[in-house]
Amino acid sequence: MSQNQSLFERAQRTIPGGVNSPVRAFRSVGGTPRFIERAQGPYFWDAEGKRYVDYIGSWGPMIVGHLHPEVLEAVQRALHSGFSFGAPTEAEIEIAEEICRLVPSIEQVRLVSSGTEATMSALRLARGFTGRSRIVKFEGCYHGHADSLLVKAGSGLLTFGNPTSAGVSPEIAAQTTVLEYNNVEQLREFFGSLGNETAAVIVEPVAGNMNLIQPTRAFLTALRELCTAHGTVLIFDEVMCGFRVALGGAQALFGIKPDLTCLGKVIGGGMPIAAFGGRRDIMAMLAPLGAVYQAGTLSGNPVAVAAGLATLRLIAEPGFFEDLGARTARLARGLSDAAREAGVAFSADSIGGMFGIYFAPEVPKRFADVTQSDIPRFNTFFHAMLDAGIYFAPSAYEAGFVSSVHTDAVIDETIAHASTVFSTLA
Ligand code: PLP
Repeated sequence: MSQNQSLFERAQRTIPGGVNSPVRAFRSVGGTPRFIERAQGPYFWDAEGKRYVDYIGSWGPMIVGHLHPEVLEAVQRALHSGFSFGAPTEAEIEIAEEICRLVPSIEQVRLVSSGTEATMSALRLARGFTGRSRIVKFEGCYHGHADSLLVKAGSGLLTFGNPTSAGVSPEIAAQTTVLEYNNVEQLREFFGSLGNETAAVIVEPVAGNMNLIQPTRAFLTALRELCTAHGTVLIFDEVMCGFRVALGGAQALFGIKPDLTCLGKVIGGGMPIAAFGGRRDIMAMLAPLGAVYQAGTLSGNPVAVAAGLATLRLIAEPGFFEDLGARTARLARGLSDAAREAGVAFSADSIGGMFGIYFAPEVPKRFADVTQSDIPRFNTFFHAMLDAGIYFAPSAYEAGFVSSVHTDAVIDETIAHASTVFSTLA
């Protein structure tokens, strides 16, 4: 039995499914998860000493690669001053100022410890601010695992949500309406009947949890117009795409200003930090100023703040996103070309440092398109690439991530391996 297999067996005795977050278990692709021992730059190594090019980057945070010397130094410095105080620090002000500077729609921001907390708190705030209960999300968008967000669409417009997880009460799910991503007509119909009782619309302005799906400009524009017209709070969940698709996030790229923004992943540089922020009048509703309660023992943790600040400073350097976008586009284009040469129905897309790969002839526009891609073929590709030392996300429904230390040489090596694998799939 391999070392990964024996660790997986051992893990399953004390950890449900052997993992602390479900997709790590390789359920959808099959096989044994790799247990990671260490990482450096664009690589990590498993318990058997095998090296992989890491295209997950801890699901997004590692935008400057693993153990970047400046981030490491900042963390080490912070560690020597104490792990956690439960009292305010100057570094929290610095990161708040940096976030507000880089994302101008954020006038005030509060730090939390996970993306789930950020979205959950933003929704509570929107409900408190509007005095309304209903929220809208889009099928295929993931906003963390708070109850009211674990809801999928029924068929058709205005179908009230059904929980997608046991343990979510139907009463809570019924307050969530699920609509189709990029479907402007359906959105208008919804607002025509229920807009005035809707507290918030939450959306991934670039969707990365149904593989990568880019928004149409018309969709984001309609969202902004309709929310403004109906007094509904527009929440951009930029936990994944914030500081990832552009320095100012998707809102900078598409020129749409949300009322609230949720951030996570990159702002912690691999440490547990997330945030939500936005309009000052809405944020003023938060305790201790206002009536909406929200708190956290480790919120604004000094070690995590240090990692986040160091990361934000690195990505704010001139040219960072131009380089990252070019590298990621090189990967997407190289994979598409290699598949075409091999005669495999495949497409790839990228935006900033995020990419999507699909075993479908065209880049998907909505969730249903992703479900119709050739998932068994993706699974075969995934395992062949893994054997070759290339670690893509272990699911056809996840986006991939490139870091600033994935050099052209690393990317070209990936494309060369993919060429070989595609030729076996044709
Ligand atoms: N929102 C988005 C868009 C995400 O991608 C995620 C996690 O992947 C979350 C929220 C939840 O963040 P966390 O896993 O830190 O709770």
